[in-house]
Amino acid sequence: MTFFGFLDFGLKELIETLLIAGALYYLYTLIRGTFAISVFFGLIIIFSVNAIVSVLGLTTINFILLRITDVGILALVILFQPEIRKLLYRIGHNTSFDRFFKTNESNQVIEEVISAVKSMSRVKTGALIVFARASALQDLVDAGHRIDAVVSSQLIETIFQKDTPLHDGALVIRDDRIVAASCYLPISQNPNISSVFGTRHRAAVGISETNNVFVVIVSEETGRISVSKNGSLTSGLTIQKLRKEMEAQIGKEPTENEVSFTETKKE
Ligand code: ATP
Ligand code: MG
Repeated sequence: MTFFGFLDFGLKELIETLLIAGALYYLYTLIRGTFAISVFFGLIIIFSVNAIVSVLGLTTINFILLRITDVGILALVILFQPEIRKLLYRIGHNTSFDRFFKTNESNQVIEEVISAVKSMSRVKTGALIVFARASALQDLVDAGHRIDAVVSSQLIETIFQKDTPLHDGALVIRDDRIVAASCYLPISQNPNISSVFGTRHRAAVGISETNNVFVVIVSEETGRISVSKNGSLTSGLTIQKLRKEMEAQIGKEPTENEVSFTETKKE
């Protein structure tokens, strides 16, 4: 099928053009409002100047600009490493393959964490708890303080007690065990996070942007409970809402034996 006399433009080309336009638009939504947009315009200028220079036959300048763009590709990968990770994570996360790796914590663990969050929120003890799937976040866990303990509300509250060596940073729970405390998380650079949130909340968003995790945060300033997943932050949750979120996001599907327990359990 040819639409134009001078161009061989058929259905295949149309689909290709739409796909490229879609990919460029998606890329634009990702870098909108970040410093990457300035880099993007900078690249367009270099390519335009290069085109003009090569038409004019200025070979030396053309040669220099070509070398810059050669190195530029490598520089871009290094410069945009966090954005590239985020993009690949989003693509991978939206596939059903990823659901096989859902974090599953037992009801008991969820109840212990809720109990700790409830009292830490009441007395305004700051807390940051990350639920990760088996063997995820290994680098981060290795850099933190290794623990291998059963999840209990008393232990969580003790760890986040102010003026203790382990209270700073995040607690990581994997496979129904507390695996590390005092873990340092990457801070999110998302400019849309409200300025009322400080580094604790931004660290929660940062880790959930590029990892399949569920994060619970208790604010030291306000006692407010928040959760973060897939780079989003929901703040001001009640205990009931927190329980619902945790059961939906990281709860185990109840087996037949557990159903009656879940139904009869009351606040
Ligand atoms: P809050 O509402 O509790 O005050 P906030 O969002 O305002 O929280 P800050 O007041 O800056 O954040 O909280 C500082 C605490 O957050 C630190 O003492 C530390 O425990 C934790 N924190 C800060 N940055 C990180 C990080 N990158 N990784 C893990 N924990 C962090
Ligand atoms: Mg603060």
